[in-house]
Amino acid sequence: MHSDIKVSTIEKSRIAELDFNNIPFGKVFADHMFVADFDGKQWKNFEICPLHKIPFHPATMAWHYGQAIFEGMKAGINDEGMPLLFRPHKHAERLNKSAVRMCMPEFPVDLFVDALKELVWMDRAWIPKDEESALYIRPVMMATDEFVGVRSSDTFKLMIMNLPSGPYYNKPVGLYVADKYVRAAEGGVGYAKAAGNYGASLYPTKLAKELGYDQVMWMDAKEFKYVQEVGTMNIFFVLKDKIITPDLTGTILDGVTRDSVIQLLRKKGHIVEEKHVSMDEISNAHSKGELLEVFGTGTAAVIAHVDRIGFHGHDLKLDPANWNLSKLMKSEINGIRKGRVTDYYNWVVPVKQEVTV
Ligand SMILES: *Cc1c(COP(=O)(O)O)cnc(C)c1O
Repeated sequence: MHSDIKVSTIEKSRIAELDFNNIPFGKVFADHMFVADFDGKQWKNFEICPLHKIPFHPATMAWHYGQAIFEGMKAGINDEGMPLLFRPHKHAERLNKSAVRMCMPEFPVDLFVDALKELVWMDRAWIPKDEESALYIRPVMMATDEFVGVRSSDTFKLMIMNLPSGPYYNKPVGLYVADKYVRAAEGGVGYAKAAGNYGASLYPTKLAKELGYDQVMWMDAKEFKYVQEVGTMNIFFVLKDKIITPDLTGTILDGVTRDSVIQLLRKKGHIVEEKHVSMDEISNAHSKGELLEVFGTGTAAVIAHVDRIGFHGHDLKLDPANWNLSKLMKSEINGIRKGRVTDYYNWVVPVKQEVTV
């Protein structure tokens, strides 16, 4: 354990309240949390403690001016009972990219991973064991100066909490191709996991839901021609002879699951192209019968199958009989995170017991 982290264990675990067969996503929190403060110069007060509420002043800057970013990652547990973090360094690096864009302080990557190891170790009893379940880890950083006036906050807080989670999306999703609202423009904050991006997506998503779809497929802000991504997922299209996915142009999130899927597909000999993907190309492929699978990738869902895309007033339907690659990717990633599938890329970081608490 990192010697600077102060640790206090919960007196009585709440785990008896958890029904592992029925875990509602996002509502159930494990026993402990990690907290750290940035005082304007440096990070300090590293602490793992029982999960608790934190009082904030009404002028807390995060709420007024939006300096708030987060991450989402997962841990599994192998058959020997060793918790395994999935690509924690990559998540730490992305947290720092988001931080730089939002004028927030970077957090030392090694300390972040040490804190995760210790926190997940302490909450290891909360890690669900079955294939599609995991411990979802939610780091969040926010501005904490008590000040009214637009400038960057000097002080910040980083908090990390754990949520046991079961299978995320059970049903395939229907997507509505955006025709009026945009998520991100070049030069904006689309590549940052900045809280405001999600607030801004809610209203267009609500409208799409009223039309019977589950999520908006975001398009480029200039021409509404090129696909960006979906909700909190990156998107892949499986054509007859290759797989295509939007390239990273600064408007979409550099998804860890996206990167993992690209590497796994290439390792298995598939051609994956990262490029500008136009809805015209997708629609043409569909009418020729060459669009086999469409799926979203993200830590929470891992893979979400898409069964229809609402585009220009009609639906492009996808046939579940073809969903082979997406199912394979889902079982590979879930398997790697559980230590059951060979981890060629050393994505998994075991959480060794380094201290008895
Ligand atoms: C988090 C997120 C993703 C998926 O990223 P992962 O690292 O795979 O979880 C994709 N798009 C958006 C907008 C996101 O917020």
